[in-house]
Amino acid sequence: MGASRTVGGLPRTYGLQRHFSRDRGNGPTPQITRARVRRVLRYFRPYRWQWATIIATIAVTAGLSQVNPLLTRHLIDDAMLGEDKRLLVQLASAMVGVAVVLGLLGVVQHTLAAKAGQSMIHDVRSELYQHLQRMSLRFYTSSRSGEIVSRINNDVNAVQGVATGTVTQIANNLCMVVATSAALLYLSPALTLLAVAIVPFFYIPSKIVSRISQRLATLTMEAQASMQSFMHERLHVGGVLLTKICGRGPDDAGIFGERSRRLVDLHVRSTIVGRWLFMVLSIFAVLGPALVYWYGGLQVIEGLLTAGTVIAVAALMTNLYRPLLQLATVYVDIQASLGVFERIFEYLDMLPEVRDREDATPLPTTGGEIRFSGVSFAYPSPMLMASDRDGREETEEAADGFGPEREAFSLQDVSFRIAPGEQVALVGPSGAGKTTITYLVPRFYDPDEGTITLDGHDLRDLRQDDLRQHIGMVTQETFLFHASVIENLRYAKPDATEEEIVAATRAANIHDFIAELPEGYDTVVGERGFRLSGGEKQRLSIARALLKDPAILVLDEATSSLDSTSEHLIQEALETLLRGRTAIIIAHRLSTVLGADRILVMEKGRLVQVGSHEGLVEEDGLYSQLFTRQFGRVLDLT
Ligand code: ATP
Repeated sequence: MGASRTVGGLPRTYGLQRHFSRDRGNGPTPQITRARVRRVLRYFRPYRWQWATIIATIAVTAGLSQVNPLLTRHLIDDAMLGEDKRLLVQLASAMVGVAVVLGLLGVVQHTLAAKAGQSMIHDVRSELYQHLQRMSLRFYTSSRSGEIVSRINNDVNAVQGVATGTVTQIANNLCMVVATSAALLYLSPALTLLAVAIVPFFYIPSKIVSRISQRLATLTMEAQASMQSFMHERLHVGGVLLTKICGRGPDDAGIFGERSRRLVDLHVRSTIVGRWLFMVLSIFAVLGPALVYWYGGLQVIEGLLTAGTVIAVAALMTNLYRPLLQLATVYVDIQASLGVFERIFEYLDMLPEVRDREDATPLPTTGGEIRFSGVSFAYPSPMLMASDRDGREETEEAADGFGPEREAFSLQDVSFRIAPGEQVALVGPSGAGKTTITYLVPRFYDPDEGTITLDGHDLRDLRQDDLRQHIGMVTQETFLFHASVIENLRYAKPDATEEEIVAATRAANIHDFIAELPEGYDTVVGERGFRLSGGEKQRLSIARALLKDPAILVLDEATSSLDSTSEHLIQEALETLLRGRTAIIIAHRLSTVLGADRILVMEKGRLVQVGSHEGLVEEDGLYSQLFTRQFGRVLDLT
């Protein structure tokens, strides 16, 4: 496997170079418990026949690996010393035959292991992706950018290592030890004892180094994650923008340099540790066969053993030492492999904050009547991501990975009703809780106290998908995928016809613009595609909402000031979008406030005033203050 051989079958490294450079410090090292093993085995179960075949191949391979050393014995004792030329040819040919069969078995074994391993990766990756989709927004706002993706990539790929590495290696080593011991005992029990007697000399240094290299591997993983998440954060549109604006380029380069240096240092230390071990082991690797040749040689001289037997024993030692040494660390190997799964389970075990009830009420249509009754809500405290944890414990019952303690209420005892087709504007100072209200309507979060109903149904009794199919959202920041315009639009309604799409884009005042793009509707836009202006993106997202044609609309009006043409185009598009729908609008424009049926005034999480514009300006309250402050100048001008 990894062992390079010298003349006479003397092992040089017994594959330990690879063994100790393997990344085994991946994350936590959990105790091996029945429950953990059973959970991991669940992923193997669908491929049990492949695994059974793989293990059978390994067993046959182990048996066959003993044949050539035994043939060597015949070759020397009977063919060479017996001067039998025919036997010489026959034995040499048989050796080639055995090598060919072993090679073919290797191909079968690796093909099956790759297939089973990759299929398991696929299963884990898909399960994780689907689970992460169900996590609440909060999970994403509190995870460091890039960390989730890097976890999926690194940890899930490590599953392949566990499957094709640990499992096949343990099976391989066990079969090899059994088969080789049998062959050695058959040849010479005395020499076998001698061969086994020096095993502790390998074992002790390898144990020490294994511990050091495991610690280094853990540190390297952490350093790698820290450098990766720094890169993800900084080399991202938003991050780059902030770095440039704040002029922090050189500082960030310095921080990056430090992290990169640390990684260099750790890698170098790992290599050095591995090399020292290699040196010590290489010496013992010669010592074993030397002892066998010395003691065996004496027996040959005394006529108790044949020369062929001694050479065969020396050759077989390769087959014994490598697997024996690797089995010595089998516990650590299994622990490390469980650790790989454990990191994935950590994610899979986070309960999504918002869950569907088993007996949820179906809601095929909706009138669009929304009612908040005594709603209070606090954002859960931030979750601790793996690399931030530094040994701190997570609580068992944590949902979405958050502790039970919650921060100050963002909404407190909020009650209001929105009639079907009514348009309500939310106004209030920054941090008043306006966005939070718009997040509770589509159940991105559930309230801590009070209830929210749609057509009289408590939202918690509805399936999230059912509820959300009736809700359209146009947010300030329009997110577009790196895909064509038409693909971005169809994301809201995959079966939309071209006519429907054009009707929506026309209504959103964006059709003419799209038609003039280099490839029209097929132009690729989004983070890495054709760049659209803020106003164009907003109109595209209005078109997307129009295509969805929801009964309820949640609209966070853009605060960014646009030129008057763009503003006018958006205004028109919004009017079309709002027509006939129940709408909750975080209003920033005077025209929207004036156009709303009712205005809800929020302050510090509470609903402090409700009424029409005329009624509210008359009252001496927050609204009249806000109105004068925000729109007074505009009114003076109009
Ligand atoms: P703005 O007009 O500035 O967008 P807003 O009225 O929409 O403000 P919200 O975003 O609803 O206010 O925030 C209400 C409160 O909740 C604020 O105190 C805010 O700090 C807090 N908050 C908002 N989002 C989170 C979050 N993800 N985690 C913790 N607290 C949050």
